[in-house]
Amino acid sequence: MTIRGLQKTTLLDFPNKVACTVFLGGCNFRCPFCYNVSLVYDADKGGGISAEDFFTFLKKRKGLLDGVCVTGGEPALAEDLDIFLRRIKDDGFLVKLDTNGSFPGKLAALIEGGLVDYVAMDIKNSIESYKKTIGAESFGGSKSLKKESDIGANQENTESRNNISNPNEKTMESRDNISELNKKEAGLDANQENTESRNNISNPNEKTTESRDNVSELNKKETLLGAVQKSAAILMENKIDFEFRTTVVKELHTESDMESIGKWLSGGEKYYLQRFKSENETIVKGLTSPSDAEMQRFRGILAAHIPNVKIR
Ligand code: SF4
Repeated sequence: MTIRGLQKTTLLDFPNKVACTVFLGGCNFRCPFCYNVSLVYDADKGGGISAEDFFTFLKKRKGLLDGVCVTGGEPALAEDLDIFLRRIKDDGFLVKLDTNGSFPGKLAALIEGGLVDYVAMDIKNSIESYKKTIGAESFGGSKSLKKESDIGANQENTESRNNISNPNEKTMESRDNISELNKKEAGLDANQENTESRNNISNPNEKTTESRDNVSELNKKETLLGAVQKSAAILMENKIDFEFRTTVVKELHTESDMESIGKWLSGGEKYYLQRFKSENETIVKGLTSPSDAEMQRFRGILAAHIPNVKIR
C-alpha cells in the first residue's frame, strides 16, 4: 500500500466527524476536471508515508479523531485495501471511502465485511454523458488521454482480489460470485454485451438478487457504466450511510444531464453538487465553473427526484 498523502485533520470530508484523510495513488478514470493529476498519472511515485508511519500517527490521534477518509485517485485499485481498512477499524476508527464506483464487487465485499462506515460515490454525469466526463472520449484540451486501454487496465486484477476474511461465509460466498462477474467489467468497451455473465448474478440465497438483476438489465450495453450503475444500486440498498456527489463543470453538465441523473438515482437520499474550481491544476485545461444560478437550477432539478440535495 502506497499512501501518497495524509491530511492530518479534516472537519469537512467525513460528515459530522473529525477525521484525517489518506490519499492513495492511481485511478482508472481520466476525468478532464480532475484536481489530483499527480495521483492519477504517477500512482506509485514516492513522497508519501509508509503504512507503518500512518498507523503510528493514528494511534497518537486516538480520542482526537473519529475516523479516516480514504480517497484517491481510486482507492479500490489498491490490492490490499481490505487489509488496510481492517487495520483502521481494529484500531477503533470509522472509515469513509471515496470511490468512482467502478468496482462494485469490491464495494459490496467491503460493506459486507463491515470495513466501511460511509461511502461517497462520484456520479460523474448522466449515463449518456458519462464517457466524456471520465475522459473516455477525446475531449478538447491541452493534455490528451493515455490510451483508452490504459483506463481500467488494473480493474480486472484488482477485482479478482476480493477475498476479505469474514466469518459469514455464506454471505461472502455470494459476494465472491458477484466478484467473479465483475472481472468481466474491466475496460471501456462500450459496445461489448456481457449479458450472459451478468445474468449469472442470480442466487437464490441472496436477498438482493432482484435488485441486482434489475441492474444487470442496465448493464447489457456498457461494461464500465454497468459497473458504476451496479455500485450505485448497491449503495441504494442502504446497508450503510452514503452520499452521491458530482463535481459540476460548465462545459460538461447540462440541465438535461441533471434530469437524467435524478431519474437514475431517485432511490438515493443525499446528493451533493460541488462546483468545479477552475484555479486548480486539472487533467484538461480551460474548463470553467458554473454560475450560482446554474448551480441552483441543477440543484432544483435533482431535488425533484432526491430528497436531500445540497450545493457545497
Ligand atoms: S476525478 Fe476522476 S480521474 Fe480524478 S481521481 Fe477522481 S475518478 Fe480519478
